[in-house]
Amino acid sequence: MTRMSVYQRLPVVLQNAACSAYGQYVNWTRYGRGFRSQLHEAEQRLVMSGPELLAFRDRRVRQFVQHAFDTTPFYRDLFGKIGAEAGDFDTLASLHRLPVLNKSELQAQPDAFVSSAIGASRRIALHTSGTTGTGLHLHSTIEAVREQYSIWWRYWRHHGIQQGEWCAYFGGRSVVSIDQQGPPFWRVNIPGRQILFSGYHASPDRLDAYLIELRRRRPLWWHGYPSQFALLAARTIETGFDLGYSPRWITTASENLMPQQRSAILSAFGTMPLQHYGMTEAAANFSQCECGSLHVDEDFSGVEFLPSSRPGVFKVVGTNFSNLATPLLRYDVGDVVVLSDRTCSCGRPGRTVESIDGRNEDYVLLANGSRVGRLDHIFKDMTNVHEAQIRQTSPGAITVLVVRGSRFGPRDEENLLLEFRNRLGEQTAVNVEYVSSLGRTRGGKLRFVVSESAQ
Ligand SMILES: [Zn+2]
Repeated sequence: MTRMSVYQRLPVVLQNAACSAYGQYVNWTRYGRGFRSQLHEAEQRLVMSGPELLAFRDRRVRQFVQHAFDTTPFYRDLFGKIGAEAGDFDTLASLHRLPVLNKSELQAQPDAFVSSAIGASRRIALHTSGTTGTGLHLHSTIEAVREQYSIWWRYWRHHGIQQGEWCAYFGGRSVVSIDQQGPPFWRVNIPGRQILFSGYHASPDRLDAYLIELRRRRPLWWHGYPSQFALLAARTIETGFDLGYSPRWITTASENLMPQQRSAILSAFGTMPLQHYGMTEAAANFSQCECGSLHVDEDFSGVEFLPSSRPGVFKVVGTNFSNLATPLLRYDVGDVVVLSDRTCSCGRPGRTVESIDGRNEDYVLLANGSRVGRLDHIFKDMTNVHEAQIRQTSPGAITVLVVRGSRFGPRDEENLLLEFRNRLGEQTAVNVEYVSSLGRTRGGKLRFVVSESAQ
């Protein structure tokens, strides 16, 4: 951020007031009229049988395709081109006749997707930060936002979190000026019951201030980016900091929870993090259950899993039933997953996802053109590595940026190089570079693989 905003020039006490005022507005947006009944209905649907749930989803497919066809230029033209009628699409499977929609197509002509049925006064503007710097602006409705929060609260409540629980929030919002050198690196949103920790001040020495504040306030719920919790965990383990309590819930969002982050968080705080998967576009949502499985929220959007360039790995493509302002049919979210063929013992119907494999771009390209993903597993047991990022300079050559813990030694580097050689072969040039911290995206997210040739 190059220019100081009005907010950033305020003293801390007024910044807290501003966070609370904004929190009041956010509360209304998310939890105003209709939210309670949506939440109640969403929770009722948890006990539907499998066939009932899929019938409910297919009914939404029919209504939504009709809506897209009747009220948006893009789908009216598309159906004309392929000689289809809205009535041809009556199940999720029947959507396969339609082409998959990429983010770039949506960005190129956003107005073509806006529904004429939703007047300008009923539209609200949403933004996604985007991991490559190209954010997306999207119209939605207040009802759609409330429905999405009803699905998220269904999941949080399922794990015992009630609305009104104080939450230590670690996200991408710039609540503290980047020029501020000393604590407090957090602000408080009283109506939203959030302590908003800055995601942009988390250098190792400052993390102690974060931990001391957590020990003082003892919030039972921590929510936010797993990369932030992993930094806190690494610092706690490194310095032997005594937090004095275990948070009851650590829930992660926005970034994929990687295996090494999960184990660091568990060993530092004694709390197994819970993961859910969702996005502003509302094209897919998965919620972790008490058994640890990720369940597709079949009632919320029409999720399809399409083969990717890597065997056994599927692209997430979804239809966003809830957003009547910008209907998207078969939207490629840009993430890839590994599917599970087991039925979860919790008994919830619908499909389950074995693991979210991150962004589709989170792979390394070898000199022979093949792609290797899931490299985050290399770091799973490397407790002396605080953070890592892979930078691909050209096909067949990578640089691994590593933030070392104090106990990192020559053997760790040997192990690291060995693990990379095992997965990428002798032909791939692997350089290790040690850095004091890793850069974040504009939204404060940490990307695991950055392709420098593609930027
Ligand atoms: Zn389950």
